Amino acid sequence: MVDEAEATPERDSMEYDVVIVGAGPAGLAAAIRLKQLAAEAGSEISVAVLEKGSEVGAHILSGAVIDPVGLSALFPDWKAMGAPLETSVTEDKFIFLGHAGSIDISWLPMPGFMKNHGNYIASLGNLCRWLAEQAESLGVELYPGMAASELVYGEAGEVRGVVAGVFGVAKDGHRKADYQPGVELIGRYVFLGEGVRGSLSKQAIAKYALDAECDVQKYGIGIKELWQVPDAVFKPGYVQHTLGWPLDDKTGGGSWMYHFGENYVSLGFVVHLNYANPFLSPFDEFQRFKHHPEVSRFLEGGRRISYGARAIAEGGAQSVPKLSFPGGVLVGDSAGFVNVPRIKGSHNAIRSGILAADAAFAALAEGRGGDTLQAYDDAYAVSAIKKELWLVRNAKPLLTRLGTFLGTIAAGIDMTLTNLTGGFSLLGTLHHTKTDAASIGLAKDYAPIVYPKPDGVLSFDKLSSVFISNTNHDEDQPAHLKLRDPSIPIAVNLPKYGEPARLYCPAGVYEVVQDEGAHDPRFVINAQNCVHCKTCDIKDPSQNIVWTTPEGGGGPNYPNM
Ligand SMILES: Cc1cc2nc3c(=O)[nH]c(=O)nc-3n(C[C@H](O)[C@H](O)[C@H](O)COP(=O)(O)OP(=O)(O)OC[C@H]3O[C@@H](n4cnc5c(N)ncnc54)[C@H](O)[C@@H]3O)c2cc1C
Ligand code: SF4
Repeated sequence: MVDEAEATPERDSMEYDVVIVGAGPAGLAAAIRLKQLAAEAGSEISVAVLEKGSEVGAHILSGAVIDPVGLSALFPDWKAMGAPLETSVTEDKFIFLGHAGSIDISWLPMPGFMKNHGNYIASLGNLCRWLAEQAESLGVELYPGMAASELVYGEAGEVRGVVAGVFGVAKDGHRKADYQPGVELIGRYVFLGEGVRGSLSKQAIAKYALDAECDVQKYGIGIKELWQVPDAVFKPGYVQHTLGWPLDDKTGGGSWMYHFGENYVSLGFVVHLNYANPFLSPFDEFQRFKHHPEVSRFLEGGRRISYGARAIAEGGAQSVPKLSFPGGVLVGDSAGFVNVPRIKGSHNAIRSGILAADAAFAALAEGRGGDTLQAYDDAYAVSAIKKELWLVRNAKPLLTRLGTFLGTIAAGIDMTLTNLTGGFSLLGTLHHTKTDAASIGLAKDYAPIVYPKPDGVLSFDKLSSVFISNTNHDEDQPAHLKLRDPSIPIAVNLPKYGEPARLYCPAGVYEVVQDEGAHDPRFVINAQNCVHCKTCDIKDPSQNIVWTTPEGGGGPNYPNM
């Protein structure tokens, strides 16, 4: 906290028609659409986009096989314009892994939308960089390196804007020589496009009870490595998904492998965060997974060039909250528009940005501002996003209830029938009943897992991995990972759950250290290593860790994830 004795100086204020938090596909699509609509109407609109990464794309991590429907709605001629979707999918495999062997299950009954032909493999970070160029050329003001750290409320309780760009507060709370109080960016509407588990979105959802009528949101953690491999093992356009080993049947998750661009292999592993075993380490599961022959053969002679992690929204249709609130809206993953069985959300993020922009533009044209954009909720209710999520709504609950093997078969059948009937399922709508934090089991009921040591060729440790994520935070700033109660990690989480933060954090941020001669161990937070995946905010069993924005520009610097 800033020293109480130092009164908060006046903040400069900048006014816009629309302020957008987050330069992901959702926020950028919204900004572009607003400018396109203004150009069509021959009117002016001012739009600002804030991005906490040092540049657009620096914090974007995705698979990514991209369904171009979203991009086509924004720029029908995106190919001619040079959008970086260059590798089309040529082969699509779905494999069930055992410890040593594997079964190709690509033949399982699945509706057509589960196939990847017609989609493109790309770096979503690079697509966002390209979208940012388009946005700027249309007159959008883009502010990378600016973390939106607070919501600004108006007198009627509406969101009026955000505070961004607070810099120069030291670790102990005093103001350093370069202190800057930040700027208030005031908008007639504020769009929250922070991606999954947005820190301001979480506050807006709580304040306006946006989730009062939906299920709890569910999440996974996705850990990704980018490899560059020799021609001998590179298959441009090849897509491979796996289920099974090394996870047991009760632990949901699976892998992806996409071959694209200049001999790049995007390799990643998702673990559903409703896992129960507190000793499970998603990072180490991923490392050992790479030793399976179905994976290692594609990495032979290759070089790992980047690493990162990000949570993914998995709740689907039944977890989508109310989208509009006084003065603002949620777009993209902040609202949870990922189609989990397809592992795709970027097209829906773009679509939702477009829908929100349409609603805001119409309202602004009527001279409105600061009210609730109900038209956006109404548009979502009849949208292609809702329709798509509705057809797959039982997939994730079936996996949770039946386990990976039977759950996948049941989900395949349910999605196929639901697709044929245009949305009717014999199962109705299965609900998510428990948060991921509440799903963790007690340490006394599980044996610790002994993971193999990394070999430095296929598998690596956390610290060398974080190193190639180019993560950096100024160390002399208040920790952006806040504990509601600092005693809980050692007094509650350690005895009850073995303090699982040590294991679920993919960046080695949390440690339990026993100093020589000390009675109790200490909980250490290496906040400078944080890759902003948000898993701790989601999975901490005591819900004691709160992820907040560090100074803008801090965090990973992903080149092309
Ligand atoms: C592991 C993984 C694999 C995936 N694979 C695929 C795939 O193959 N295909 C596909 O289509 N989709 C995939 N997805 C989903 C897809 O990545 C998301 O649906 C999409 O990125 C959502 O876009 P968004 O704009 O809502 O959020 P994001 O892409 O997360 O962008 C949000 C942006 O907002 C910024 N931000 C957040 N908070 C603040 C703040 N307070 N102030 C300033 N800036 C802020 C972030 O830094 C970020 O740049 C995957 C997701 C994951 C995690
Ligand atoms: S500290 Fe939290 S948000 Fe940061 S990398 Fe670890 S789990 Fe992810």
